[in-house]
Amino acid sequence: MRLMVITAHPDDEAGGFGGSLRLYGDRGVESCVICLTPGQAATHRGGARNDQELAAIRRKEFAAACEILNVSRGIVLDYPDGQLHRQDIYHVVCDLTLQVREFQPQVMLTFGPEGGVTGHTDHSMASIFATLAFHWAGRNNRFPDQLNDRLVPHRAQKLYYATANFSLPDRQPITLSPATAVIDISAYVETKIAAFKAHTSQSPLLQLFEGHMRKRGARELFHLAATMKSGSVEPETDLFAGISEDL
Ligand SMILES: [Zn+2]
Repeated sequence: MRLMVITAHPDDEAGGFGGSLRLYGDRGVESCVICLTPGQAATHRGGARNDQELAAIRRKEFAAACEILNVSRGIVLDYPDGQLHRQDIYHVVCDLTLQVREFQPQVMLTFGPEGGVTGHTDHSMASIFATLAFHWAGRNNRFPDQLNDRLVPHRAQKLYYATANFSLPDRQPITLSPATAVIDISAYVETKIAAFKAHTSQSPLLQLFEGHMRKRGARELFHLAATMKSGSVEPETDLFAGISEDL
């Protein structure tokens, strides 16, 4: 089985999806995390003298976090942090569609279009790009130049948006997708904190994250946004429920 996660910044994989990544890794699921930017516009700079240095530092931190989370394939693309809403949608979705066709995931995860609890514009755009890649990767009339003997259209079976049951104070309003899948990650809280800690340049955020995780980090919530099985939504506790390996 294969799981693909599409994020915007190094540390999103740990903060947003870390528990599920490690849980499914331990169950033998191969995972691929694609991070659209190297996070070069971050407020916390980790001593970097310029954007290039920060990008290089954060790529290394991402690789370290992926190791902790048992991610099979971690890829940081080179789109500009903080500017995803100004990128050419066709170009970005083309890149992601290629990744979907190559990795052939059954399940895909990304942020919700609201941008997660921070409401970050890059998270919203990651959601929109990933949603289009999910749908278009399976069609032979989308990016047909990618298709050949080796690379064929691929339909992932389910797409989920990460969601939450709280909002942060002093932020712009967010309207979250309802949770349809609740994943128990209580056995992975420490792993998730360790993966977040691998992002040393972002250490000023660590205390807040750790406190939050220890208080209410036992579950990761997701919203089923698209599924090959038609019908009404059943509450789920497993992202791979009903997935067939040979589709
Ligand atoms: Zn982020």
